[in-house]
Formats: sequence, structure tokens, C-alpha cells
Amino acid sequence: MLRIYDTRARQVEEIAAGRAVRMYACGPTVYRRAHVGNLRTYLLSDLIRRVLERRRTRVVVCQNITDVGHLVDDSADGGEDKVLAQARAEGLAPLELARHYEAAFVSDTAALNLRPPEHQPRASENIDLMIELIAKLIEKGHAYALPDGSVFFDVRTFPTYGEISGNRLDSLKPAHRIETVDPRKRFHADWALWKPGEGELTWDTPWGRGFPGWHVECSAMSLRFLGPHIDLHTGGIDLRFPHHEDERAQSDAVAGHEVVRRWAHGEHLLFDGRKMAKSTGNVVLLPDVVAAGLDPLAVRMAFLEHRYRQQLNLTWDTLRAADRTVRRWRARVAGWAESVSAPLSREHLDRVEAAFDDDLDTPAALRALRELERDESVAPGAKLETFLHLDQVLGLDLSVEIGRTRALPAGAGELLETRARAREAGDWAESDRLRDELASLGVQVSDTPEGQTWV
Ligand code: AMP
Ligand code: ZN
Repeated sequence: MLRIYDTRARQVEEIAAGRAVRMYACGPTVYRRAHVGNLRTYLLSDLIRRVLERRRTRVVVCQNITDVGHLVDDSADGGEDKVLAQARAEGLAPLELARHYEAAFVSDTAALNLRPPEHQPRASENIDLMIELIAKLIEKGHAYALPDGSVFFDVRTFPTYGEISGNRLDSLKPAHRIETVDPRKRFHADWALWKPGEGELTWDTPWGRGFPGWHVECSAMSLRFLGPHIDLHTGGIDLRFPHHEDERAQSDAVAGHEVVRRWAHGEHLLFDGRKMAKSTGNVVLLPDVVAAGLDPLAVRMAFLEHRYRQQLNLTWDTLRAADRTVRRWRARVAGWAESVSAPLSREHLDRVEAAFDDDLDTPAALRALRELERDESVAPGAKLETFLHLDQVLGLDLSVEIGRTRALPAGAGELLETRARAREAGDWAESDRLRDELASLGVQVSDTPEGQTWV
């Protein structure tokens, strides 16, 4: 049974399988290309989904596309809409810009083998759901509309606010980011559900023209596409507060019960020691990885080497090492495929699956696979079956080299020749050194009575 750390319960909890699991993943704000840090967060929901699906559990995922309402400074309810600001900078219509980056997101996630969600609603196309939800919150006394056309959530009507992040109402300091509390709010921690505005990306409502707040989008779309009982909700660790607290308050207030059962958060990706972010200037995009000659799935491999709940400090060296491992495994799988098939290794399979179940302990899973790779007592055919079986969760395309006569990487041909001569001369130290050098190029050499062979 899969166990995942639930941020709200502050402990590892079982994810009930055996029936459909509904999962909501906060999706991208499409005003720029997602960097690999963002992609690490989306890998979390993909892994959860793949582990559950291996157990024949149906998983229904909804991941929204935020193309309106996410402001430059969302914690202070202020600033300009990210999509509008960037569209102006690039000289494009806002929704043209949004569709462009949405397409880039779809292509990046596909390159990382992230399975597409069943529902991928765009915020701008679901404004009616948000208006409906806000109207219900007003009706139930959880929200108040003001003469200027704004609507705020009245957080003091939701006493369990803060359970996910620990930011309880009595400890929240007013206006830590801004000079003065917005005088329109009844309480400093209230937030805008609807903001007044004119021009592009605004809509008419019973309380005036404007646009939705970012948090209300996720409540409206999750309730609409997954219903009022959601098994699991994922996102990056920074979304715990205020985004997920606000989302929980809105959804629970309108549904009258706890809507989301478990909250899972992925830790941040750092690059060269600092959180990867556009504002830090250390962003790496998937096309940068490909331009460096690496397989995009090297990124997936590098992520799997670390548990999702730990910060991961990525470097180009880590990416290159991950790339070598992916290529080596593909070559090995192709090599093993030449042997007679054999039943998979139950022992290794059990170890890897137990590691996945244990709050996605992917480093332990990879350790077990590396041991299997080296284990001389396991038949090549059994290694093949075990690796291919587990690739359903790993998602590393480990079978792509099977049956493909591969062109040698640059320089490998000469190294193979030099090594053959070294062996003829009985220079075993040199032959071992060359074997390692070839391995680092992704070429696995083995010695047979007929001479060396390679995959
Ligand atoms: P955004 O498109 O900015 O709304 O962010 C999309 C997702 O990426 C959110 O779930 C964030 O929590 C997550 N995220 C942002 N920066 C990082 C990072 N450096 N590492 C991991 N996840 C991140
Ligand atoms: Zn969200």
C-alpha cells in the first residue's frame, strides 16, 4: 500500500487504493516556460499516479492551467497579473502568450514522460464556476462583497484555517509584507476572491466587472472536475501557504466538509545552491538540457536519485551522471534482451516496490536496481524482465535500445580497438581502464572466449 507524507496530518499516511483515486495537482501559470524546478513538482504527482496504477487503481488527475488571476505578488494580494505583464513585455495578446507557454508545458511534460492529466482546465474558460462558487460563499456568510466590486473571504468564519502550514490565524501577523492593512478587509488575513478591474482578462459578475483571485480558481476547478471528495492534492512546498490554506478554506466552506483528504508537497529544486527561480536567475529549462547533449529523461533520473521531500541541489555534473546511467541501463537492457527470457527477480522487484510504497523512497529503489544490475547470480533474461516491469513507474524508456543496432558514440570505436590490442598484449590494467572509459560513454564491454563484445 502506498504511503505518502500528509503535510496536514504531519505524518505518513496510507493512500487508500482499490478504487479510483482522485488527485488534484496545482498546475502552471503559463506566463513563461516552466523550469526544471517546476517540473520536479509535477513529477511528484506522476510518480504517485504510476505507483497506484501498477496496483490497478484507477487514478483521475486534474491539473489546472492558470492563465489569469495569478498576480506578481500573490502573498500581498497585489501587483499586476503575471500573464498580462509578460504579454505586454513580449508584445502579444495575453491569451496568445498563455497558449504558447501552455503548449511548451505540454511538450516539456511529455518529454519527461509525465502522464497527461485527465482534466486540464484553463482558468479563463471556467470563470462561471468561480462566480458560482463566490456567490455561494457570500450566501453562506463566508465572503463579503464591497461597493468597489471586490469580494473577500471572511477568514474568521473558518476557524480551522492554517492546519496545513501551521500558520494559524492568531499567530498571523498583520501586513508583514506591506505597510498598511488593506482598509477594505474586515480582518487582515482575509483575501480577495474577486478583484475589480477593466480591460483585458476581465468579466462581468453580479458584484461588478473584474477578475478572479488565483486561489479561488483551484477550489472551483477541483470541485467541478473531481467532485467534493478529493483523495490527494499535490503542489510545491511554497504553495502550502497561503495558496493551499486559502483553497482549503474556500472548498470546505462551500462543501460543508473536509474536501481534500491528503496534502502532499514536493521540496524545492536548488541549482548551484539556491532555489531555482526566475527571480534568482538560475533557471534551467528542459531545452537547455537537450541543447547540452543530454537526454531529457536524464532530468527525470536525476530527480529519482533524491526523495521528493528533500531539497535537491542540481548541478550540470549531476545531470551528466544521470544521463550516463540512463544510457547505460538502456544499453544493458538491450544486451539482456539478447538472452533467453526468464521470470523476473521477485526479490528485487519486492524491494523496489516496497521502496516506492515507503513515501516514494526512489533513492532506495534505484539502489536495489543497481544491485540487480551487478548481481551475477541473476540470469540476464530475469534482469531484463525486472527492469522493464519497473520502468512502468521509473518512466525512463529503458526499452528503446532493444533490437537497435546502435552507432557507437564518438571516440568509442578507437577505444574498443585500443582495448583489444591491450588484451592481446596482456595489459589487463590498461584494458580495465579502457573498459571504464567506454562505460562512461555508455558502452558496456564484456569479454568472451571469442573476444570483447559491447552493447
Ligand atoms: P508556478 O508556475 O510558478 O505557479 O509554479 C508551478 C509549481 O512549481 C508550483 O507547484 C510551485 O510550488 C513549484 N515550484 C516553483 N519553484 C520550484 C522549485 N525551485 N523547485 C520545485 N518546485 C518549484
Ligand atoms: Zn492551486
